[in-house]
Amino acid sequence: AAVVGVLALQGSYNEHMAALRRIGAKGVEVRKAEQLLGIDSLIIPGGESTTMAKLANFHNLFPALREFVGTGKPVWGTCAGLIFLADKAVGQKTGGQELVGGLDCTVHRNFFGSQLQSFETELSVPMLAEKEGGSNTCRGVFIRAPAILEVGQDVEVLADCPVPAGRPSITITSGEGLEDQVYSKDRVIVAVRQGNILATAFHPELTSDSRWHRLFLDMDKESQAKALAALSLSASS
Ligand code: GLN
Repeated sequence: AAVVGVLALQGSYNEHMAALRRIGAKGVEVRKAEQLLGIDSLIIPGGESTTMAKLANFHNLFPALREFVGTGKPVWGTCAGLIFLADKAVGQKTGGQELVGGLDCTVHRNFFGSQLQSFETELSVPMLAEKEGGSNTCRGVFIRAPAILEVGQDVEVLADCPVPAGRPSITITSGEGLEDQVYSKDRVIVAVRQGNILATAFHPELTSDSRWHRLFLDMDKESQAKALAALSLSASS
């Protein structure tokens, strides 16, 4: 059976491990680069992205994490994990913070505000109903949550939600000699998929709803089937 790694430096990795156990999947905690060699897919949990980045740096994990994302094996980032996977992060305290990258999007680290503005809301996610049947909504738990401001053309948007009323305006600083932009849309993206990467701004591992974890396991099965097909192709040629 597939082995799901859970990056266990900081944050809600215990909750992800428990969610995997609930659906009978094999999860292992990952703290060292060499452990990435023994897993078929990886979850990067929520927590505090600056702290997590410091720990990842301390353990010299960034090159190995980038390599893992590049293998095409499934990777799922929740909340701080989403920030890790983004190609670009804006918002307070982003300066100098190292990212793994791979997901073609701009993320705002604290779009929904501080701890006090944490909230829960019902999200519409058509893909959940497609894959699982039943309801197309899920409970989104947002804790000091980030949001995705912009996505590249290969990114599939799975869910968005309204920008809370009274949200101060946000400027997207390009940093590349281009003009800064003010984010003026009334909805913001909170779940995406791009190839092997799944990312959610909220925390399915803090609910009893296992559909997101099952969906991620399905991505794992798809990618193993692909790898097998490629192998038999090259063996027969
Ligand atoms: N905004 C947080 C950060 O910058 C993420 C919060 C979370 O993962 N719950 O890391």
